[in-house]
Amino acid sequence: MVGGAVAGGRRLLPRWQALSSCRRGFSLASKEVQSEAGVPQMPAFDFTPQPYDGPKADEILAKRKKFLNPALFLYYKKPLNIVEGKMQYLFDESGRRYLDAFAGIVTVSVGHGHPAVVDAVVKQTKLLQHTTTIYLHHAIANYAEALAQRMPGNLKVVYFVNSGSEANDMAMMMARLYTGSFDIVALRNAYHGMSPSTMGLTAHSTWKYNVAQGFGVHHAMNPDPYRGPFGADGKLYANDLANLLESATPGRIAGFFHETIQGVGGAVELAPGYLPAAYDIVRKAGGLCIADEVQTGFGRTGSNYWGFQNQGVTPDIVTLAKGIGNGLPLAAVVTTPEIAQVLSQRLHFNTYGGNPVCSAAGHAVLEVLDKEKRQEHCATVGDHLLHRLRALQEKHDIIGNVRGRGLMLGVELVKDRQTKTPAKEETLHLFEQLKDLGILVGKGGLHGNVFRIKPPMCFSMEDADFLVDGMDHVMSKL
Ligand code: PMP
Repeated sequence: MVGGAVAGGRRLLPRWQALSSCRRGFSLASKEVQSEAGVPQMPAFDFTPQPYDGPKADEILAKRKKFLNPALFLYYKKPLNIVEGKMQYLFDESGRRYLDAFAGIVTVSVGHGHPAVVDAVVKQTKLLQHTTTIYLHHAIANYAEALAQRMPGNLKVVYFVNSGSEANDMAMMMARLYTGSFDIVALRNAYHGMSPSTMGLTAHSTWKYNVAQGFGVHHAMNPDPYRGPFGADGKLYANDLANLLESATPGRIAGFFHETIQGVGGAVELAPGYLPAAYDIVRKAGGLCIADEVQTGFGRTGSNYWGFQNQGVTPDIVTLAKGIGNGLPLAAVVTTPEIAQVLSQRLHFNTYGGNPVCSAAGHAVLEVLDKEKRQEHCATVGDHLLHRLRALQEKHDIIGNVRGRGLMLGVELVKDRQTKTPAKEETLHLFEQLKDLGILVGKGGLHGNVFRIKPPMCFSMEDADFLVDGMDHVMSKL
């Protein structure tokens, strides 16, 4: 049953939903939530978007086609014109509300238009927007201190840049300079960026152009518990890494890159025990361990503030982007003072990196995460969501795998549970249907058959229930 049966015109909620609704004071009274019986309803939200009288979707689309590079792709057959956002909700040109379960690709961490971040940005913009790091400014120094305080071990020195690709470029260069070695290992199914050098780290044919890239980069077997040949045995995959170093490198390497839950790759969590074993092998070969926390950082995985902590390792370099700025162009490379030192062999400069406005926003994000206890919230809501998604898997054969942690989850759809053939067309169909219900999820994995659920971290229990009820509803109609 989906979203409650209707008895005598009254909607009967399933027991768990009725309980959770009462407990949280969730009301079905608002106009917005009254509609067709049996169709899951979005939780009430007391907010009115501003009237929109700007250009409509068709007009924008025509202009995009004419003036923007055709490589820019859009979600949905009829692309959405999103004009406003508030916390975990988005509004289109007609004022229709959507539940945002993808957060602008895992980027809006504390919520659309979070007042504390908006205030910090407005205040700083009015005072001073930009000077670059050639003059002193308190915002960048205070922010670097706050970020370093949240890092474990000796990861205490920050370099701010503007995007995840730039952060990974810099980490790669630092590793090469520090170790004097050149070879780098990354994982298959990884996504680390689109700059010429990070495209070489990325390991999906869909994201690779036929240009020179990845010189010195080797891709190890992905410790994928669902599709990998060794299941969830992290140590066996690490043996493959050791073999790769023996066979494809001079034995000494500059570094090893990894995400802790692969994002674009479809929320693939690395097999347990992989990272400790891999770090050991890499360090014995003189390499640095580099954690790409662009999607997994800042408490999103719930169990820890940083994704790598879920496997009990401490990297030598950590790269951050996306959620760090709640949507502002901000990224960072955090490392030890010793490794950071290598950049001072020559001049290095980044015009916008850590500018006062982005620093103020990033600092505000850290404070909100603490104040609103977002890590704990991700753990609670994420556990509930996982539990409900696993129950959904029992009901619908199309769900081959449910995985992830906190609010970094994946639902992989397959045509057949034995062969695990990706259910590409069905995923696309369901994706459209979910949007029609008002639910925006992401899509990922090499074959585009994984729903990515990575909402703003203020996503509530009621949102989680609505999302799963919505999935149940559309899957039941397949
Ligand atoms: N690393 C990871 C894990 C990412 O998901 C991304 C972006 N999807 C990047 C790096 C690159 O970030 P950007 O698009 O900001 O360059």
